[in-house]
Amino acid sequence: MKNKYEGDVTIMMYSLKMRASQSKSGSSQHISGAERIINENEINLNVEAFISRAMNHSKGQPDFINLKIEAVTQDEIQYVDALPVKTVEVLNAETGQEIILKYLEQIGITNGSAIMKMFSQTYNMRGAMLLDVDTLERLEPNHERGLRATYMDAVHNSANKVEDTKNHFAEAIVLASKVINAPNIIGEICVSDDPNYVTGYVAALSIGYVRITKLKDMGSPDGGRIFLYRGDHDKVKDCINYLEHQKVLVRNVPNNPATQNKNAATKNIVTNCSIVDKNNFLMETINNLKQNNLYRTMNVIESAQDSHVAIDGHDFIMMASNNYLGLTADSRIKVAAMDAIERYGTGSGGSRLTTGNFTLHKELEDDLSKFKHTERAILFNTGYMANVGTISALGRSGTVIFSDELNHASIIDGCRLSRAQVVIYRHNDMKDLENNIKKIAPSNGLIVTDAVFSMDGDIANLPAIMELTKKYNLLVMVDEAHSTGVIGGTGHGIVEHFGLKSNPDVLMGTLSKSLASEGGYVCGSQTLIDYLCNKARSFIFSTSLAPATIAAAKAALNVLNTEPERVKRLHYNIEYFCKHLNHYGINTNTESAIVPIIIGEEERALKIASELYNKGIYISAIRYPTVAKGQARLRAAIMATHTEDDLNTVAEKINRTIKP
Ligand SMILES: *Cc1c(COP(=O)(O)O)cnc(C)c1O
Repeated sequence: MKNKYEGDVTIMMYSLKMRASQSKSGSSQHISGAERIINENEINLNVEAFISRAMNHSKGQPDFINLKIEAVTQDEIQYVDALPVKTVEVLNAETGQEIILKYLEQIGITNGSAIMKMFSQTYNMRGAMLLDVDTLERLEPNHERGLRATYMDAVHNSANKVEDTKNHFAEAIVLASKVINAPNIIGEICVSDDPNYVTGYVAALSIGYVRITKLKDMGSPDGGRIFLYRGDHDKVKDCINYLEHQKVLVRNVPNNPATQNKNAATKNIVTNCSIVDKNNFLMETINNLKQNNLYRTMNVIESAQDSHVAIDGHDFIMMASNNYLGLTADSRIKVAAMDAIERYGTGSGGSRLTTGNFTLHKELEDDLSKFKHTERAILFNTGYMANVGTISALGRSGTVIFSDELNHASIIDGCRLSRAQVVIYRHNDMKDLENNIKKIAPSNGLIVTDAVFSMDGDIANLPAIMELTKKYNLLVMVDEAHSTGVIGGTGHGIVEHFGLKSNPDVLMGTLSKSLASEGGYVCGSQTLIDYLCNKARSFIFSTSLAPATIAAAKAALNVLNTEPERVKRLHYNIEYFCKHLNHYGINTNTESAIVPIIIGEEERALKIASELYNKGIYISAIRYPTVAKGQARLRAAIMATHTEDDLNTVAEKINRTIKP
């Protein structure tokens, strides 16, 4: 082998391979594997990425990691083009299988169904079957293990780029593109052996890489690969040697099915199979949701939102509203909204930074900052937009956001929109949070948490979080959607609840829950608000809230300030309701207005909620994906305007419905 420092230019590359396994009851189980062909200066980064991939695999922690690094000279490497990619969407596995047969016919294979039957022998193989397509003879020397195609990678154009998540799509194309170039191989068929994936592909030089969205049923661990061989058997050795030893780099590999190589000529194949029309994924998704009891529909309410509502002409006790203080139908607040319409009209006509900034907006912001004891406040159109706008603006590149795993979807979306690194910590687990902070030691970090968690009703350990932010010099943002007007002796929220001396840096909340209107807000320092006013895109690029909405929120905040007895009444109701459930042996205890009653199975939770509905109680069943699978629950929301009678009735009916 030539030395890379010798005059004649032999550029060195390295083959890097990782295999991780775990020994279980004597046998070794594969956890994860990966390989790349890279430059010398990329070795460190890739080794690190491989190890992290191995250590964090969902299949478990490996107890053996085999890492192999071999030098490869440039002239040993063969360059091939990636197969052009085409996706065929199908409704079900049978159609997918039919489509494969059509494609096999295109490459001159007429006994496709006999070949597909061979998959019954691949299920436990780690490698592929090498099949003579005409005689159906298996040509791989070791039938148990199968053939492993290896020494291949995509040509990566940006140096040092390490993908930390495994890109199955790109890896499959690299593999297929190599396999298809082996002597006497005329095609490859693959069905995913992962129970969570139902896709597969058929590949050949003349048809390209045809990805088929469904080839088996969800949950089935069956799958495998078949390399299709045609010709004299004296080339089998060359073929296997190519697959196992030839170093191959594949050019122009697309990264995901959506950005598949448009320039590459995709042969259009006409089949009379039901290749599905472009809208069919809608029906498929809907049917899937229905089958799994995850499909949602809307109820229509015919009266004002209060402790009782009318639906279909019937009276229901409302146990699902966020209108905790029961202010949405308060006459003073309605009058304030009507007066605002009289004076300012119905719409604001522009964003806050253009023409949509009225005296009312400024006044409400002043009231809010006073209420939260901060320098300033800024309004957003919804709580959702407040989170998305604020978090994406604070999460610049280089920032690390630490986010509780049970945070509200709008926080999650804000994180997704940001350019920050996002680290999810275990729910309200301060040890896990601190470990994560220590591990990363960010110079710019933000901890973000719900104050009251919307599905569990528990309260974030803010005192401990504030300690951590001090210790590690991080910002902290708290979402007070379910805490304002609810917790703290006078409903001022989480800071009052814990009697904290200082505020979190960012106090976000909504006007849509206790404050009986709609809109979101952020309270904080003058600097923070100036920053958001210039950087939060959901603030800048959306028409501001209408005058009636602002006036209603302002009036509701005034009621909250002047009538703390409403908050007291809410606290009383919460305690009263929990006590009654406990009395029936239903274990719940919460300091917030959200009382979760865990049921478990999605289907059962739905059934109980619908039985309660038939008994005149409006209560929501919360299911995956809002909460984890198998953690479905009834979620009772208590209002200050519920009477003891209401709560007695509800507790008693829940008890009777839950117990068989
Ligand atoms: C409801 C809610 C939001 C969103 O507020 P909207 O004003 O309804 O958009 C944000 N965060 C949490 C925790 C919520 O419960």
